[in-house]
Amino acid sequence: MSVETQKETLGFQTEVKQLLHLMIHSLYSNKEIFLRELVSNASDAADKLRFEALAKPELLEGGDALKIRISYDKDARTVTIEDNGIGMSREDVITHLGTIAKSGTADFLKNLSGDQRKDSHLIGQFGVGFYSAFIVADKVEVLTRRAGQPTGEGVYWSSKGEGEFDVATIEKPERGTRIVLHLKAGEEEFADGWRLRNIIKKYSDHIALPIELPKEQHGEEAPAEQEWETVNRASALWTRPRTEVKEEEYQEFYKHVSHDFENPLTWSHNKVEGKLEYTSLLYVPARAPFDLYQREAPRGLKLYVQRVFIMDQADEFLPLYLRFIKGVVDSNDLSLNVSREILQKDPVIDSMKSALSKRVLDMLEKLAKSEPEQYKQFWSAFGQVLKEGPAEDFANREKIAGLLRFASTQGDAGEQDVALADYIGRMKEGQDKIYYLTGESYNQVKNSPHLEVFRKKGIEVLLLTDRIDEWLMSYLTEFDGKAFIDVARGDLDLGKLDSEEDKKAQEEIAKTKEDLVGRIKKALESEVSEVRVSHRLTDSPAILAIGEQDLGLQMRRILEASGQKAPESKPIFEINPQHPLIEKLDMEQDEDRFVDLAHVLFDQAALAAGDSLKDPAAYVRRLNKLLVELSA
Ligand code: ADP
Ligand code: MG
Repeated sequence: MSVETQKETLGFQTEVKQLLHLMIHSLYSNKEIFLRELVSNASDAADKLRFEALAKPELLEGGDALKIRISYDKDARTVTIEDNGIGMSREDVITHLGTIAKSGTADFLKNLSGDQRKDSHLIGQFGVGFYSAFIVADKVEVLTRRAGQPTGEGVYWSSKGEGEFDVATIEKPERGTRIVLHLKAGEEEFADGWRLRNIIKKYSDHIALPIELPKEQHGEEAPAEQEWETVNRASALWTRPRTEVKEEEYQEFYKHVSHDFENPLTWSHNKVEGKLEYTSLLYVPARAPFDLYQREAPRGLKLYVQRVFIMDQADEFLPLYLRFIKGVVDSNDLSLNVSREILQKDPVIDSMKSALSKRVLDMLEKLAKSEPEQYKQFWSAFGQVLKEGPAEDFANREKIAGLLRFASTQGDAGEQDVALADYIGRMKEGQDKIYYLTGESYNQVKNSPHLEVFRKKGIEVLLLTDRIDEWLMSYLTEFDGKAFIDVARGDLDLGKLDSEEDKKAQEEIAKTKEDLVGRIKKALESEVSEVRVSHRLTDSPAILAIGEQDLGLQMRRILEASGQKAPESKPIFEINPQHPLIEKLDMEQDEDRFVDLAHVLFDQAALAAGDSLKDPAAYVRRLNKLLVELSA
């Protein structure tokens, strides 16, 4: 070891300590992945150097081809991974190997269940890559020098993976990073050429850079200089023809680009030729990352231009509602010195973005058709995000709508498993609309009085209870030529589903109840915009409908939660003339009691709609008064 100066001992960030502990205890069943992670980092380091060298060729120091070398020493129980990539400065080392930058990490770690099997899936979401070295090592040393820095500015880092690490400045002639793992007792198996070769073939064959191992010596006489041999395929996976890439290779490549530990659900690999030339390899992860809803969470694709890595998280290639997609895009049309600013303005990017969006939607369609169970998994992970689609991507509205899944009166206990195509396939004779009801929870909407007439006629209604559903529906007006109708809104017109006799009967009843309607209107003047006879009800006495243009409950709550005031609007009060309570109301001569009963019915209708009462105490008082009179 060369002379160390400026030596200091620093503590790991709390999150790192927690993570190290969790990782060592939950990833032990899959120890060999440490090598995949370190190789993945070495490959990223080479990509970054190649990119920076586009503008500053001197960074390459005239040196060797980029590669990764893995060596081992059985007696010393070490495995060494060395690359000649970008390397790290002292500051880089302290931040990258001492902290986790991802926002929300602390909260996330707090919420881990303690169930090691479950947690190991979640831990995988972090790009905890480097720290996985401590699964097999009880001491890790890193010797590194940032490309372009003088040889005296090398950095030495070492840690036992407990609370702290040491850093020092060293002389390091070669650019790049060398990582020395001191294997724990019992992990000697990894200091073995055959074992290492197998692990590399299994997890890292797709790495575009050569990964070299020392050539095994068979003769008596060892050659003066160590010879090396490349053990991986060393070509960029996405440049190979689809038919020649094995499923496992696609999966391992996914883990490399996404920093995920789990296999993806599906992927789509395409080469586009013609006016634009590019290759894309897009993956759908199996699980939602914990920061899916955080604005600043990393998203986007890895961008290459003519196979040269340009940047991570190029988020200009996909819309926000597809932010869960991971993968690579390699363009032949962009210039090698393309920057984020240029990407944002380049019209080429726009056409790639719409083509890639379509690609993703096609891939999801295919998944839904051929792997319904996996699509279910997709839907529960990312359905909520896909629902942002119709508002963001006007051109693909119909396509996105086809991918949505809803709970329905005909579905399975609130499960979101009904596609619009299923719904349309089950439509009743004479039905030409898609009916839906929004609300706070499945339990609330499934018993809503708004469904009574639909139940009677056997018509399916979609039950929409996600927070963003009402907002979503404001962007979806029709599907397959059939209009969406909110059953709680306006003057429900069932079209041909109501026979001529039905309609005539409704009108007649309405006429006979004109007096009653007028009396109620007077009693509830300050509460309602209109009172009318309902044809929505069979069992309940009364119901509230929302005005055609008014905001529903969900939207009101979203607005209020964001500190805005929702515009005032009063509901429409509809009565069921056949209900005994309404008949009683009609016959009530005592004006005070009439007003009380009308208010109670109104408040009950609000409760059934999932709304809260403006004056709950008044409701209780009135109801109690009526109860006392009843028992008197
Ligand atoms: P991730 O790869 O997801 O960023 P890691 O824990 O694997 O997370 O690595 C943390 C960071 O440490 C990397 O992003 C990189 O900046 C730095 N790093 C790790 N290994 C190397 C290496 N061989 N060369 C240069 N930088 C590295
Ligand atoms: Mg990594």
